[in-house]
Amino acid sequence: MFYPCIIIGAGLAGLTAAKILREKGFHPVILEKARGVGGRMATRRVDGNLTDHGAQYFTITHPEFQALVDEYTPLANIYPWSNTLIRDSHFTADDKLRYVSRLGMTALPKAIAKEANLEIHTQAKVTAIQKTEGPDAHWTLTLENGQSYTTSTLLITAPVPQAIQLLSNVSELLPDIKLLQTLEYHPCLASLITFNAPQSIPGCGGIQLSQGLISWIANNQQKMSDNQTCTWTVHGSSTFSRQYFDAPDDKILSALKPSLAEYADTGQIQDHQVQRWRYSQPTSTHSAPYACLSKNPNLFIAGDAFGGPKVEGAFLSGVHVAKAMRELLQARAATIERSV
Ligand SMILES: Cc1cc2nc3c(=O)[nH]c(=O)nc-3n(C[C@H](O)[C@H](O)[C@H](O)COP(=O)(O)OP(=O)(O)OC[C@H]3O[C@@H](n4cnc5c(N)ncnc54)[C@H](O)[C@@H]3O)c2cc1C
Repeated sequence: MFYPCIIIGAGLAGLTAAKILREKGFHPVILEKARGVGGRMATRRVDGNLTDHGAQYFTITHPEFQALVDEYTPLANIYPWSNTLIRDSHFTADDKLRYVSRLGMTALPKAIAKEANLEIHTQAKVTAIQKTEGPDAHWTLTLENGQSYTTSTLLITAPVPQAIQLLSNVSELLPDIKLLQTLEYHPCLASLITFNAPQSIPGCGGIQLSQGLISWIANNQQKMSDNQTCTWTVHGSSTFSRQYFDAPDDKILSALKPSLAEYADTGQIQDHQVQRWRYSQPTSTHSAPYACLSKNPNLFIAGDAFGGPKVEGAFLSGVHVAKAMRELLQARAATIERSV
């Protein structure tokens, strides 16, 4: 199947780029390996309760992101959560207002996908990309299920190491890829814990820790008041997550319990599961908000490793790359029109 424009990844960067291109009259197709959209803005039901296991909140600094949040606040049930957190045992207020959704962090990407009427093929994992040279040079994408898609304009928004892996057959890109190889990510083990009895965290329900095995604790019941049972999200620190990444779930919980006991009655733990994020947040950011690796056929890479290691950064990268893609798509359309 040939599509003029394909985007790999339905995280915030891919959805933002697709939304903007759609508004300008293009019809990008998104290929997403998961069953749903949102990528690292991820929420799942744990014992029936909404539990954020990826991004925990977002902040807003840029007016364009503010406009997006305003547009989707009613549909995604977004609200300003707090500018006060417990930081290493102290209540700390700062100038960062943190936003969450009563429907979970995945609500914003879901709302964008629905409202912008995007064509998204889910459970569509791309496993290889090949280039065909010539006057109608194009990319051929092979999927895990054996299907193949071709396109003349491709945007990859998967975490950079995964994007590099997909491009390993395109040898002429090696010099550019070497530069991107410097972009690394923190791993993160997200423990999702259900308690038999409510365990409240003073204030809004979030604790940020700079030392030790745990880097973040959030009580999802305090974020999403409809939750009937108390579930906590506990993020292991980068060092802990690296060390225990392949350990079984029960070993991870046993290792975290002594630190967790400072904040909760660990005797009340009823259930526990772990989400392993090999690429949680980039440790550094590329100097530009996206990378254009080829202009014939077009190839772009974007995402939080380009716009900034956060939800807002992923959005801004999507905005910038969409502008660049639009110009090339318009130029390509004009060339085709002239030749007809
Ligand atoms: C544990 C954790 C905590 C975080 N906490 C915060 C926070 O509190 N605040 C904040 O602002 N940010 C936080 N972040 C970071 C934030 O979630 C990300 O910066 C942002 O969501 C990245 O969006 P993206 O679109 O760039 O990438 P992603 O959301 O990763 O989207 C990429 C998409 O590509 C898909 N994909 C990958 N490979 C393929 C393939 N081969 N074929 C098809 N599809 C593919 C993936 O499934 C995914 O949906 C956190 C992240 C994690 C993991």
